[in-house]
Amino acid sequence: MSKEIFLCSICNINSGTCNEDCKFCSQSVRYKADIERYKQKEISLIIEEAKAAQNGGALGFCLVTSDKGLNDKTLSFVCSIAEILTKEVPKLRLIACNGTATLEQLLILKASGIKAYNHNLETSRAFYDQICTTHSWDERYETCQNVNKAGLVLISGGIFGLGETGEDRISMLESLNSLNPASVPINFYHHNEALQLKPNSLMVDEALELIQLTRDMIPNAQRIMVAGGRELMFGERQKEIFSHGANSIVIGNYLTTSGREIGKDLEMLQSLNLAIAKAV
Ligand code: SF4
Repeated sequence: MSKEIFLCSICNINSGTCNEDCKFCSQSVRYKADIERYKQKEISLIIEEAKAAQNGGALGFCLVTSDKGLNDKTLSFVCSIAEILTKEVPKLRLIACNGTATLEQLLILKASGIKAYNHNLETSRAFYDQICTTHSWDERYETCQNVNKAGLVLISGGIFGLGETGEDRISMLESLNSLNPASVPINFYHHNEALQLKPNSLMVDEALELIQLTRDMIPNAQRIMVAGGRELMFGERQKEIFSHGANSIVIGNYLTTSGREIGKDLEMLQSLNLAIAKAV
């Protein structure tokens, strides 16, 4: 076996309570999408999901909240979970994904056991105001800079299929490269009928080329991760993502949509003679 694939699992610890208006996001309260909404997931459930992720071969476990950014209450909730998970599932690398964050907040997360922070640029700076009007792209970029300053591992990527142009895609990838992320999650827009955006019109070959483009334009990233929308975008052709530069995937469910059974992903990797990464 040659190439190693890094598996990551995401856990929505607070769902569907966000007041922002990101047009691709079913977690915004503005669009009334038919999703599960809750303020704080039960700690016992989070531990259960973390153990299942670890048993499935995941190395990364991401604690996601659906608000614009960290406030004192969210920060304290995420820190308390990180402290518990550090003891319960010590082999998992804990990642936080909690929106806009200051350097001070990120240092507090780091002290609680969080090793990496995920904050996506989502799309290009020029296109961003057509996707979101309640906060700026610059604010997102600044949070990513704060992650680097805090000495946390930066995970930052975006979404394809929002109606952006080829120029927007290049621009986003250049911006991501300037931040030097260790991991770049690529999402493919998964349409929900409550959202105003048109469904993703990307073809499979085009989407595979975008993974390769991401790999080529961010050469120093340790991982190019195919995250949300994998099953919907690639269907039977998902195996091909690994020959187009991807070396990481999200296993299990996504934030508001179901992924496929972990066993099927493990079978896919085995059939391709791809090993699961055991260490970062
Ligand atoms: S800030 Fe995050 S959770 Fe809120 S609407 Fe935008 S993408 Fe969704």
